[in-house]
Amino acid sequence: MASALMHIGLDDTDSTRKGCTTYVAAVLVEELQKLGAEFTDYPNLVRLNPNVPWKTRGNGALCLRIKYDENVEEKIKETVISAVEEFADLTFRGTDPGIVFFKGAKIPRIVKFFAKSTITGIVSLKEALKLIKRLKAEAVGYNSYRGIIGGLAAIGETLEEDHTYEILAYRAPENYGLKRLVDDASIFEMDRATAPYTFNNVDSEKRRIIITPRGPDPILFGIRGETPEIVKKAFAMVKPLEPVERWVIFRTNQGTDAHLKRVKMLCDLKPHHPVIARGVVSTNPKVVPRRHVIFQIKDESAVVDCAAYEPTGALRKIARKLVAGDFVEVYGGVRRPTGNCLSTINLEKIRILRLAPKVLYQNPICPNCGKRLKSMGKNKGFRCDACGSRFINLKKVEVKVKREVRRGLYITSTRSQRHLTKPAARYGMEKPRGTPVRLIDGWHFP
Ligand SMILES: [Zn+2]
Repeated sequence: MASALMHIGLDDTDSTRKGCTTYVAAVLVEELQKLGAEFTDYPNLVRLNPNVPWKTRGNGALCLRIKYDENVEEKIKETVISAVEEFADLTFRGTDPGIVFFKGAKIPRIVKFFAKSTITGIVSLKEALKLIKRLKAEAVGYNSYRGIIGGLAAIGETLEEDHTYEILAYRAPENYGLKRLVDDASIFEMDRATAPYTFNNVDSEKRRIIITPRGPDPILFGIRGETPEIVKKAFAMVKPLEPVERWVIFRTNQGTDAHLKRVKMLCDLKPHHPVIARGVVSTNPKVVPRRHVIFQIKDESAVVDCAAYEPTGALRKIARKLVAGDFVEVYGGVRRPTGNCLSTINLEKIRILRLAPKVLYQNPICPNCGKRLKSMGKNKGFRCDACGSRFINLKKVEVKVKREVRRGLYITSTRSQRHLTKPAARYGMEKPRGTPVRLIDGWHFP
């Protein structure tokens, strides 16, 4: 008889050469149900601050929330630990798995707060361990133990606010590392049939499929969407051309902008924090080698650089068209200043709030014949090639030029969006706090 409640947090089992923490969770869905556990929620896939320098690839942590029979509690813990030990790349430098077990129906406020800090900022292992001790939770760590931070954060992020779903399909192990075989046409078809209730299936700029990851991990493809029903429906439309070993629907903070935290003043920017900040463009944008665009913004407290890199696509094109005096809101991760440089915000989005007039200075028209005058050098007046007149006292005239940008929100191209970046399609679809969660029939296989 399942009676007790437990939350199991997992993080950092993967490396660049092997594994994926979502896969460990997917295997545990099957294993824990064999022990009589009932899931009280979809496995939660919680993306943490993407700007921490030591992050795992996607910086995603997992939480399994179950009802179980206390007689099998030890067996459940052993099962989780052996799954992590079997699938984690334990010998890889920088893979630091962590498991956290927390028993109880309600997640304490302090853990929820800890989770928010892990998503929007930087927290230390010491803080995590202190909290685990205070809560009488249990933690298992490997190597540097850093994964315990994410494990606890996943438990604390209960996704009560805006959230989305992702169905992940996994490959048969014998195919790991080989080219992924999925029928492309079926993916475009699925996108046409289910967008905007699914999102980020294809990159519309490059007409490229982005539901299949690259690399040796076990994921064949993942479809993101607004409800469990829609991702399951979309999944049924995609034709894999290789075996699918298992699939699971996850509930997640992906596509919600949960990482971005508004700062009041530019002097409040902290390295590695994802922020939303406002300022006036103080230099015209520069295109610098390796094809990124840089401009500065300022407020009364500070000046910072903003950078849009080549893969940001449309965003970089917009950034180029800004001029000094424009008032903008910028979204992105703060990079630590190097040497005498300023802090840099790596842009994910720009909202143009107010456009400054763009002014060009032109030579005046000849008062005698109406032709455009030629300059004779700085402050030396103008001459007319047509009629030969000279004018010492005329000045250049201001001409207002039509701006090539409009006010509004501009988002980095789909292919360079972070897992957490809210795509354009999701604006207006945000779920209000307290939206009920129901487990649908058949939310995983096997
Ligand atoms: Zn003239």
